[in-house]
Amino acid sequence: MTKNTPLAGVIGMPIGHSRSPALHCHWLRRYGIKGHYIPMPVPEADLADTLKVLPRIGFVGVNVTIPHKEAVLALAHSTTDLARRIGAANTLTFSESGIHADNTDAFGFIENLKVGAPNWTASQGPALMIGAGGAARAVLVALLDEGVGEVRIANRTIDRSKRIAAEFGPRAVPVNFDNVRHAMEDAALLVNTTSLGMTGEPPLNVTLEKLPNSATVTDLVYTPLETPLLAAAKEHGCVTVDGLGMLLHQAVPGFERWFGRTPEVDDALRNAVLKG
Ligand code: NAP
Repeated sequence: MTKNTPLAGVIGMPIGHSRSPALHCHWLRRYGIKGHYIPMPVPEADLADTLKVLPRIGFVGVNVTIPHKEAVLALAHSTTDLARRIGAANTLTFSESGIHADNTDAFGFIENLKVGAPNWTASQGPALMIGAGGAARAVLVALLDEGVGEVRIANRTIDRSKRIAAEFGPRAVPVNFDNVRHAMEDAALLVNTTSLGMTGEPPLNVTLEKLPNSATVTDLVYTPLETPLLAAAKEHGCVTVDGLGMLLHQAVPGFERWFGRTPEVDDALRNAVLKG
């Protein structure tokens, strides 16, 4: 393979579930780009060696998924401020100056929200985030950078919400899971960042009666596309935004850097990814 046939891919373990190959291969076909995007199962013990070898054999970059998102930060030669604040990277670009690590999940989240709920603005009121895991950190950074005045964080393990809140300053406010109903009262945005509601998982058990029906509700879970939370929010009169768009939008910067073309997120892409 040569520079004329750039190679990219996704590394993780396991990797079979990843939708990234369907997504990038759709764009490669659509724009007639001579290039390949390959899923690569990489055990933790092989991560450092893999990242040394890939640039030498024609790879221009890779996406990174579980369990390597945090570990790659220490292996990169440069890291964006965003990836450092989130504490994880999902997009690596290889060049003569080494491995550059970025995190595009915050971008993907906010783009999806803006497209799906064009009337939502950061100044409308507080956001309530359920969950405090890795994805929650990207959502929190996205909302703070967008200018949301207060982001409430409710998590089953309250210590985790307290730790994140302490790290990100006074606009991030931990709330007890038992007070979620109360925290909804004046919320303009509700985000599920937990895995609850995913096919095979129990639903997120919250009642929306206190949530203003002017609020926007979004879920990071996208299997199913309409989670029980989104179905209840729609029933309540809220604008809802599914999580698939976040996955699609987070892929844009990587494709652009590796293959030299800004790709479009549209229905054809959604359908290609849903078909797998
Ligand atoms: P993670 O780091 O493992 O965090 C999981 C979160 O879910 C934690 O807050 C955890 O609470 C909570 N949780 C799990 N089981 C629970 C239960 N039974 N009851 C209450 N809370 C529970 O995972 P992650 O990487 O943040 O991913 C979270 C979800 O986001 C996954 O479904 C992932 O697929 C999705 N995601 C989607 C996108 C996208 O592009 N749409 C991007 C990234 C992630 P504790 O702290 O109490 O354990």
